[in-house]
Amino acid sequence: MRKIHFDACPECDALLNLASPAIGEKAHCPCCGYLLQRPRKQSIERTFALSIAGFILIIPANLMPLVGIKILGNSNDGTLWSGVIMLVQENMWAVAILVFLSSILFPLLNIILSLLISAHLYFNRPNHYLALWMRCLQHLEEWAMLEVYMLGIIVACVKLSSIADLKFGFGLYAFIALLIISVMLASSLDRYLFWQRIGQARNEQS
Ligand SMILES: [Zn+2]
Repeated sequence: MRKIHFDACPECDALLNLASPAIGEKAHCPCCGYLLQRPRKQSIERTFALSIAGFILIIPANLMPLVGIKILGNSNDGTLWSGVIMLVQENMWAVAILVFLSSILFPLLNIILSLLISAHLYFNRPNHYLALWMRCLQHLEEWAMLEVYMLGIIVACVKLSSIADLKFGFGLYAFIALLIISVMLASSLDRYLFWQRIGQARNEQS
C-alpha cells in the first residue's frame, strides 16, 4: 500500500499530492525538480551505525599523523591540527580557518548531529532539540568538504614525493575511512523519513 501525502515543496512551495515512492525510487517536485523523497532501507539503523563508526574514526583522523615527511635526514609528522597551526604561523589565516572549518569542525559536528538524531529516533526518545539538530545538519551538509581537503593532501604528496621520502601514517587511513563513512552517511540518511519521525516524536510528546 502506498500512502498519499498532501505536502508543499520546501523549495518552491508548490502544493503536491504525492504517492510515497518505493525503496530505491525517487520523487522529484514536478515544478522545480527538487528531490523530495528518496526512501532508504533501514535508514535510521544505518545512520546510527555509521555515525558511531565515524565518531570513533574522528579521533585518529584528527590526532594521528597523516603523512611523515623526510627531507635530508629531517623527519616531520603532519597531522590535520599541525597543518592548521602551520598555516596560522605562516599568517595564512583565511586558509587556516577554511581548513579548520571544512576538515575538522564541520565533519565533527556532522557526525555528532547524525549520531544524536539517529540515536534519539532509534531508541524512540523524543527531544525538543531534534528539529533544530536536523536543520543544522542539513545546513552543514553543504559545508563539510573532507573530499576537497583529501584532494589537497594527494596533490601535496605527489609534489613532495620527488624531493622527499613520504610515509603514510595511520591518521591518513583513518581520514580516508572517515571520508567513505561520511559519503555513506549522507546517502543513508532519508531526510523525509527523519522529518516524519521527528514530527511523530513531537506529537507524542505534546
Ligand atoms: Zn518544487
